[in-house]
Amino acid sequence: MSLKKIAVAIDGPAGAGKSSISKVVAKQLGYLYIDTGAMYRSVTWAVLHDGIDPTDQAAVETILPTLELTMEPGNDACKVFVRGQEVTDLIRTPQVNNAVSEVASHKGVRQYLVERQRLLADEGGVILDGRDIGSVVLPDAELKIYLTASVKARAKRRWLEVQGTANEQSLDEITKNVERRDEMDKNREESPLVCVDDAVVIDSSDMTFDETVNRILQLVQEIINHE
Ligand code: C5P
Repeated sequence: MSLKKIAVAIDGPAGAGKSSISKVVAKQLGYLYIDTGAMYRSVTWAVLHDGIDPTDQAAVETILPTLELTMEPGNDACKVFVRGQEVTDLIRTPQVNNAVSEVASHKGVRQYLVERQRLLADEGGVILDGRDIGSVVLPDAELKIYLTASVKARAKRRWLEVQGTANEQSLDEITKNVERRDEMDKNREESPLVCVDDAVVIDSSDMTFDETVNRILQLVQEIINHE
């Protein structure tokens, strides 16, 4: 059997479970997992930290060279650092959730991060999750997946995740945030969230976590067997 390592692109709307699923799939395959949402979140954290208005495109783009954004991708987690400070947990707050899609809509931010994502993915044997991986970042990825679920299922999962944490919010607030991010991510001018023609669509609304992981592992295996 070929040992070829492929690139897997997983796109889809907020809360579809892309990160948690991708982490497990990457670990099982021994692949590198790259959470591109964490990169947009890190830029957003710095924007808020520096007191910059997320809608002010010029001001947001001006801070990019000062960020010293680094990722430590592993096969089960992805640590992120801004100016030497680890922000892995700080980028999951409701404040960052509310501003990230605005920051991610700016062209300069996307160019800056896409370049870094391609460098990280250079060696193959990678899983990248995001919104524009199959369409823009890795258009030649051997496997493209569009992972989705109903708004209700996605909001409920996010709500369960944050219960008992510092980021706890009501189901209603989370549902609104998920809907707002869907709307912005799908309708922005720069690389909107799309389901590309060559993606395999997985609707996980009625699938368990393990079923979704196994479906993706099966798809990877099918491709490797055909190489
Ligand atoms: O994946 P996650 O929900 O952490 O992503 C946070 C936000 O970052 C998304 O709502 C989207 O606005 C932006 N994003 C993006 N392109 C990516 C990954 C994330 O625009 N490749």
